[in-house]
Amino acid sequence: MVWKLTKNEVDNHNLLLDESILSLGNGYLGVRGNFEEGYPETFSSIRGTYINAFHDETEITYGEKLYGYPVMQQKILNVIDSQGIEIYFDDEKFSVFEGELFHFERNLHMDQGFAERIVHWKSPKGREAKLHFKRIVSFITRELFAQEVTIEAIQGIQEVKIVSSLEGEVTNFVDLNDPRVASGHAKRLDVIEVRSEDAYNLIKDLTYVTELEVACISSSHIEAVDPHYSKTVGKSRIEEVYVCASSGEPIRFTKYNIYTDSLRHGDELVEVALPLHEKVKLQAFDDLVAEQGMYMARFWKNSDVVIEGDEKLQEGIRFNLYQLLQSVGKDPYSNIAAKGLSGEGYEGHYFWDTEIFMFPVFLMTNPEIAKNLLLHRYSILDSARARAKVMGHEKGALFPWRTINGPESSAFFPAGTAQYHISADIAYSYIQYYLVTKDEEFLQDYMAEMLFETARLWVDTGHFHNNQFKIDSVTGPDEYTCVVNNNYYTNKMAQHNLLWAEKVYRLLEEKAPSRLEEVAEKLELTEEEAEKWKEAGGKMYLPYHEELKIHAQDDSFLQKSRWDLEKTPADKFPLLLHYHPLTLYRYQVCKQADTVLAHFLLEDDVDEETLKNSYDYYEEITTHDSSLSYSVFSIMASKLGYQKRAYDYFRETARLDLDNTHGNTKDGLHMANMGGTWLAIVYGFAGLRVKETGLYLNPMLPEQWQSFHFHFQYLGRLINIHIEKDAVSYELLEGDELTIWHRGEAVALKQNRRLQVR
Ligand code: BGC
Repeated sequence: MVWKLTKNEVDNHNLLLDESILSLGNGYLGVRGNFEEGYPETFSSIRGTYINAFHDETEITYGEKLYGYPVMQQKILNVIDSQGIEIYFDDEKFSVFEGELFHFERNLHMDQGFAERIVHWKSPKGREAKLHFKRIVSFITRELFAQEVTIEAIQGIQEVKIVSSLEGEVTNFVDLNDPRVASGHAKRLDVIEVRSEDAYNLIKDLTYVTELEVACISSSHIEAVDPHYSKTVGKSRIEEVYVCASSGEPIRFTKYNIYTDSLRHGDELVEVALPLHEKVKLQAFDDLVAEQGMYMARFWKNSDVVIEGDEKLQEGIRFNLYQLLQSVGKDPYSNIAAKGLSGEGYEGHYFWDTEIFMFPVFLMTNPEIAKNLLLHRYSILDSARARAKVMGHEKGALFPWRTINGPESSAFFPAGTAQYHISADIAYSYIQYYLVTKDEEFLQDYMAEMLFETARLWVDTGHFHNNQFKIDSVTGPDEYTCVVNNNYYTNKMAQHNLLWAEKVYRLLEEKAPSRLEEVAEKLELTEEEAEKWKEAGGKMYLPYHEELKIHAQDDSFLQKSRWDLEKTPADKFPLLLHYHPLTLYRYQVCKQADTVLAHFLLEDDVDEETLKNSYDYYEEITTHDSSLSYSVFSIMASKLGYQKRAYDYFRETARLDLDNTHGNTKDGLHMANMGGTWLAIVYGFAGLRVKETGLYLNPMLPEQWQSFHFHFQYLGRLINIHIEKDAVSYELLEGDELTIWHRGEAVALKQNRRLQVR
């Protein structure tokens, strides 16, 4: 049930949204859900095909450029367009915007991993036809985007003409008024090769600055009676034309497009693409769908969340999980962009969104994918070291607020570079990975170095004052409060980073001294440094307000005037589009969860009363103008027993893109929020936590549901949890016996034995 997402609208507003919602991807390649034949000229469209991490750079122009400001902006590129298929019935061009539509349906098959458009149409002159478009971005051959159209002439049609195009002249989308979208430099690719062979067409493009190349090899095939074929080859475009008499039999047209890029494939773009193209050409479109279905079945086996009692929310969580899988990079060059591969918002950049909101989903369902995300961060560690130097730190690694391949790409430092917490967030995700996998090899090979270098950053950034360790001039997650002293979230996360770095140091000292020696030599690390991490972590200052009994967001936050949210007109939200940042910084008003997020991630040694007071306090002044906010408030509401709020916030996250509640889904999907939906179920309703001492669950069932259940992985086991009104059951599906903690009690799980508890 609820495996198919269906859309029926053809107005411009909805079509733009559906381009994002019906986008297909596989972590490498992404194609927006555009119509093959395009829209009328008066309609707007963001027609896009993207390769994860395939980007160009442009110089950032500052009015006043100060020392250390990033020089270059990075930008994911819209690459060669292979979507084009136009269809003519005699002298009339097929377009759903003219004539009469008897039927129009678009489906995203989340269980099988493909999209389709089914149309029954009558032309203005009375010709009638049925068309069935299918498309797939393959998880098996990641370079492949394949299309199929089946055309049935119903009435009045003598001849069918298909014009299939491959277009190398492409541009990115710009919006001058929205800081979340690029404002210039739309064209960044030159067409450098257009080649037509009998068996395929090829177009190659080159970026202006990064000198990356992308190639697309495409070929098409028709099943029709006696088709007439011709081809035109232009400077940037190849068109293939098939003309066939309408015979009464359906005409089937397929087009297979293989994309390669020099980032992954070096100079061998064409050499790699050709055999892939030969191989996939042997497969019928239905075979591609079948193998995709098997891949999807494996994914859903580990990752599905079943909600009984609400189909809309069931659709939301499945859609969000599906889009996460489509967006997550699965090779060493890529990560997950804030909009995945579904659009150009945030220009294809990777943020802390990965570590805090998306990584946990993969960690608990597909640890291999999670590991790749960690390795990607490891691969840009040198850039982070270099950035730390530019920022005046002698040692350590400062990760960029936004980047594709390492360098800081955020031009607005108060809500960019100043968010130092990203380095601790990355350390946090490494620690979580270790707790869930106990992968000692990974700890030795990558984690130790990552933790040591990030810990060094904190020692160098902070200072001792009155025997407390303090961190000045940073920005926490809340971007409406910038460049402050002692942001609670940052200090708490840095503390965790520091204490774990020392712990790992001691662990290596004991268990793998020669490895420690190697790392220490590489990093010129001394034991005194490790001591310092322990001391700074132990003496970390965590601002607390005695009267309110809450943790203060930072040193000055609680002294400021409160923004009057009630008197703010509805059309002034999100505030960031209507008020200068400085205006916002002067008030107690939060864009998103900050202290409340810290309370979720690091709850130990904060008493329940403080957690509750903080929640109540910050909830009142939070606008949730960032989509990263709702899920955190849902999780903590679950923890604190605020059932209604937990559920209401959950509803906001689950359907944020499907219902376009933030108004900008056309620019791409809100991937962090999508991860947040899963977090709100698993960490929220099910109350799951992974700690050094084990795995803890504290489930509750929203009263609107009959039950919910899901699988998760932990220490090599696959576990199912089923939460019903008066019972919770656990089943160990794979792996050896294991003890976990249910509502504070130890429960021993044995293979294939369902254990029921209250
Ligand atoms: C949020 C950030 C987030 C970014 C990308 C911003 O609106 O405030 O926390 O990293 O979007 O999703």
